[in-house]
Amino acid sequence: MTTKQKVKKIVIVGGGTSGWMTAATLSNQFKNKAVDITLIESSAMGTIGVGEATIPTLRRFYSKLGFSDIDILTATNATCKLGIEFKGWSGDDSSFIHPFGLFGQEVNHIPFHHYFNKLKQNGDATPFSDYSLGVNLAKNNKFFQPSTKPKNQLEIFDWALHFDAGLFGNLMRDYSVANGVKVIDSKIYQVDLAKDDGAIECLHLENGETVIGDLYIDCSGFKGLLIEQAMKTGYDDWSHYLVCDTAVAVQSELVGDPIARTVSHAQKAGWQWQIPLQTRMGNGIVYSSQFINEDEAISAMLSNIKGKTTQEPRSFSFTPGRRKKAWNRNCIAVGLASGFLEPLESTSIALVETAIEKIASFLEDLEYSQEEADKFNDAMGQEYERVRDFIILHYKLNGRTDSPMWQHCRDLAIPQTLTDKINAFKTNGEQLRLPWEIFGNDSWLAIYNGLNYTPSSYDRRIDKYSNEFLSEQLTQMRNGIENTVNNAQTHADFLRQNCGFKG
Ligand SMILES: Cc1cc2nc3c(=O)[nH]c(=O)nc-3n(C[C@H](O)[C@H](O)[C@H](O)COP(=O)(O)OP(=O)(O)OC[C@H]3O[C@@H](n4cnc5c(N)ncnc54)[C@H](O)[C@@H]3O)c2cc1C
Repeated sequence: MTTKQKVKKIVIVGGGTSGWMTAATLSNQFKNKAVDITLIESSAMGTIGVGEATIPTLRRFYSKLGFSDIDILTATNATCKLGIEFKGWSGDDSSFIHPFGLFGQEVNHIPFHHYFNKLKQNGDATPFSDYSLGVNLAKNNKFFQPSTKPKNQLEIFDWALHFDAGLFGNLMRDYSVANGVKVIDSKIYQVDLAKDDGAIECLHLENGETVIGDLYIDCSGFKGLLIEQAMKTGYDDWSHYLVCDTAVAVQSELVGDPIARTVSHAQKAGWQWQIPLQTRMGNGIVYSSQFINEDEAISAMLSNIKGKTTQEPRSFSFTPGRRKKAWNRNCIAVGLASGFLEPLESTSIALVETAIEKIASFLEDLEYSQEEADKFNDAMGQEYERVRDFIILHYKLNGRTDSPMWQHCRDLAIPQTLTDKINAFKTNGEQLRLPWEIFGNDSWLAIYNGLNYTPSSYDRRIDKYSNEFLSEQLTQMRNGIENTVNNAQTHADFLRQNCGFKG
């Protein structure tokens, strides 16, 4: 593929979250252009139907399509997510929040955590979390939309959504269809490849149709109907880094007001999630089948759910990893077809968004080249690796002593990129940044501090400030945050006033 390939017909395979998000973006981008977009889904097969916690990039995604936050919160029974609370990751009574926001205020371009660490080394026991507005809003179930013009770093936080993925998919579907996307509801039973170069030639459907496209976007879920089953692209299996390989999900009735954070509660051989929507609670347990069987996992999960369950538990097996090439010849895999790590930091839909963004940009002129495919694969590959490292960090630094799985995770060899980051931080609090990282320095700080991993030293340039001076400055920061939180409305009131929450 040395020359540019023209694209007049795009075929999207799969009508789950990733298929409809792709269709919505491309149909918006090419609204006035001569391109045909067809989406094939099988209502008989259904979608995975989980995936309800997001990160703030989702809000940028739908705003490009013209939706406001209130539109989406209301249409998808969503709640606001200020971060994730990790319970029990350092032992049963431990808890910390990873917020979408900053910690403290940098001074003279030296990051805040150095000042914090200097005081800590001198005996100050104030928790790091006291310096984050996002954490303190989340902890107190308060919420307001962050200022678009923050006066200082202490005011900076961001938020995401917990939404009903089915309702979100419907919204994306309606939007796409209104923009001219053609939908075919039928199962694909055969994929033909060209004899010369192995590119996809056509798809055979159970309704008798044969569908031919110039570019195929594989959003068919874990199995990767086109990219793997037909094209045998290959998969990088990362189960030697990430031991969880099974999940069981169940919905329950909401008890009390919905909180503005996801909860990840460490268990004997994995962790349990709680994702509050306006109308129900999403629950699930993610575990390693090497260390616990399904019955034990389900029983542990059910014993931790407060409300009555409203459906039978559903089980999912997965292999953490990513497709070796997400873009192979005339096929691009998006969503679960391109890979899956695990749901710990709600990154799967975010990886769908970044894939779509890149596809939209490479296809702007409705043609593509091998060079663009290579660039896409390189960028997506790195993005997956950076998310992988961030997730491994949680397991590597865990402080649980109650079961062999947690010790096993501490002992596991980790990727060199992560070793380098952890070691640099340990030495003097330095944070190495790599290209294509979704999570910024403050996210890493949240996990380091939450899991009691502290640097041996700090940036010595701050020794010119006395402890008394620093203590005064940091007290002011904490007081400012406390005042803001005290004056904020509750998350439930925000939902009642703006999104029709009836609870
Ligand atoms: C346990 C678990 C928890 C998760 N939690 C989160 C989370 O909190 N946050 C997050 O961001 N992500 C999460 N995810 C990931 C998230 O669910 C997915 O990224 C998201 O739903 C996108 O899935 P998809 O559209 O790629 O695949 P699917 O939903 O599986 O859709 C596949 C589509 O392909 C169609 N299809 C398949 N085969 C054929 C065929 N032969 N013919 C025609 N059509 C076909 C299906 O009918 C369906 O429409 C989670 C995943 C799991 C397993």
